[in-house]
Formats: sequence, C-alpha cells, structure tokens
Amino acid sequence: MDPIGLYLSVPFCRSKCTYCNFASGVYPASFMGRYVQRLCEDMLSAKQFVSAESVDSIYWGGGTPSLLSPQYFRELFRAIRRQWNVLGHAEITVECAPGQLAEETLDAMLECGVNRISFGVQSFMDQEARAAGRLHTRAIAWEDICRVRQKGVSRVNVDLIAGLPYQTQASWQESLDVLAETGADHTSIYMLEVDDDSRLGREVLNGGARYSAPEVPSDDAIAGMYLTAIETLARRGLEQYEISNFARCGAESEHNKKYWLRKPYLGLGVDAHSMLRTEDGGCLRFAAHEGLEEYLKAPGWEQRQRLTRQEELEEAWFLGLRLNAGVDLRKLKAEFGAEALSDCLCIIEDLVEEGLLEKSGECVRLTQRGRLLSNDVFARFLVSAPA
Ligand code: SF4
Repeated sequence: MDPIGLYLSVPFCRSKCTYCNFASGVYPASFMGRYVQRLCEDMLSAKQFVSAESVDSIYWGGGTPSLLSPQYFRELFRAIRRQWNVLGHAEITVECAPGQLAEETLDAMLECGVNRISFGVQSFMDQEARAAGRLHTRAIAWEDICRVRQKGVSRVNVDLIAGLPYQTQASWQESLDVLAETGADHTSIYMLEVDDDSRLGREVLNGGARYSAPEVPSDDAIAGMYLTAIETLARRGLEQYEISNFARCGAESEHNKKYWLRKPYLGLGVDAHSMLRTEDGGCLRFAAHEGLEEYLKAPGWEQRQRLTRQEELEEAWFLGLRLNAGVDLRKLKAEFGAEALSDCLCIIEDLVEEGLLEKSGECVRLTQRGRLLSNDVFARFLVSAPA
C-alpha cells in the first residue's frame, strides 16, 4: 500500500483577515485542548478505513497552526506516529503567521520533525498588510523568515496575494522583490477572491466602503500583477510549476503535488478534505464539518462519496492542467481508455485554437492566457457544462 499524505487543519486565528474565506476564526483558548483531543480521536478512528501504513507528507494548515502550544504539537505528532509510520524523507510543513511563532513552539516543531515552514505574508507593504487585517509588518516577516532559516529550516514558502487594497503595480513589484531577497525556495501567489465568503469580498460586491474595499485594484490590474509575478519570479530563480505555485529547482511542494496528481491524502480537522483510493483503484472523497462546534461533537466525514469514472476523468483534467507540466494523454488513455478520451480531443482542439491550451506531442498544457482564464478552461471538460 502506497504512503499517503496527511493534512491537519488548525482553525484558530488571532484575528480574522478581511479577505479570508477559510473555515477559521478567533475562538476562546479553551477550545484548543478539546480540538487537539478530537484530532487524536479522529486519527484513531481513521485507521478503520485508511489502509495505508505510512505517510510521506504532513501539512499543517488552517487557520494559524503556529498558535498551537509546544505541548499540543508534541501530543499530535505522537498520535500521528502511533497510527502511521512517518517515512524518513517525509515533507512536514507548518503554516505560520509572521509574528505569531513563539521560539519554544518553533523548537518543538523542529524536535517533532518539521522541515518546511510556510509564512502567510500576503504583502511586504505595511499599509496593504494592515488594511487586510494582518498583524505583521515587513520587518517582522523578514525577521521570522531569517529566524527559521538560522534554525536550519531551509525550505520556506511565502504566500502573497495580488489584488489587496492599496496595491499598485509598483508596490506589488516591491513585494515580489523582497520575497526573492528573503531566499524563500517556494512561493504561492494567489489572486484576491472577491466572493460572498469574505468580509472584503462582500463589501466589494455590494459597492461598500468598509475594509478599504474601494482601494481594491481592478481585475485587469490584478491580472497584470499575476503576469508580473510569473516574469519576476522566473528571473529570480523561482519557476512557476502550477497556476499559483513557484519554486526553486527541486523545491516543489510534495504534499500539494498530491492534490494535482490525485494521490491519496487524509484530511483531519475542521473542513479538512480527503481523497483515498479504494482497493479496486476507485476514488473516495469526503470532508469534515466546517463549523468548529459541530466538528468538536463529531468529525462529520461519514459521508464518503465514490466518484464515477466520468467524475474521475474530469478531475484528472482540471487538476492536472493546473500543473505547468500539463496532462500526458498517454497516461490518461492508459487510465481511462481511448474511448473515454475521444470526446475530450475535440475540446482540446477548440481550446488550442482559442489560444488557451497548447499541445506538444502527447502533452497538453495551459497557455499563459489559459492560466488567467483557467476556470473557463476547466469548465469545458465538465460533461454537465453547457456547450
Ligand atoms: S490568518 Fe489565514 S486563516 Fe486566519 S484569518 Fe487570516 S487568512 Fe484566514
């Protein structure tokens, strides 16, 4: 049985960022102990339906996992190692908020085997970070990145968001330059999502003035920032390998690659999603409750959905195309059969003609324009999508 990845969600934050649409919040400290206990119980019960004996990646996301105390980190790692054999080369990442990583917590993480740290910086410009509700400055973020590298963590990711209030092409360029100077070996660049799931998104949609909503750059400006990122980061040695992800040679995130390559992973905690393989190679997907109080009562992952072959094929397209390496038609044919793929060939031809996909040999990948319009491209591979 192949090793799986583990994802642990820690939904606690010190304050809620204006753009945040994650299942996270500011909760009383007393919830933390109950949450850790729930996670340990879930690991035990997961063993009933997860046959993998070993894990080769662990990712702590959230939320702000760096707010967990050293004692909770140790307890949770002990629980993980009781249930699974954590392979020696496993990539173990913890998401941290700059300025919210205590020295003793960092020491406990390293002692537990953490070898990669991801900082949610979002902007190195203080005005932008402040307007978005972040609690750090550039100096704090810089100091934290240096601190973890001095402690021997060579693998560091920095998240940035294009489209924050007050951002301009010049300030964005500065954030990218600072990012490159930190020596981070990986970065995730997201474009601001304007939707009903965040306070800032709702304000923008309603034309309101709170959360500096009128200062959000236009869609065209945000698209320009994304293209600037691709170009600047490549010049500074961080090559794009996925729509939102860039890495120095060999520093791609092994855990996140599982999502795009449809390798199995188990998600534990609030709103954590899982994908497991059945014995006959099928694909099971399920998710835990997204509300903390509800989750504390029971994980809520009993509803496990087995995907149809058609759904699996659609996923193979919209997840695989996210990678710059693209989708290998030969591999897809071997997995799903030539007949299942025949309908897709016309779609590919149309998208190539529209300049959204490119095809070389048996490999199909998004063009630069296709990356900006990726959701439209993915929708074309859905059987239920309108013609
Ligand atoms: S720190 Fe992350 S999870 Fe927490 S509120 Fe901000 S964006 Fe959301």
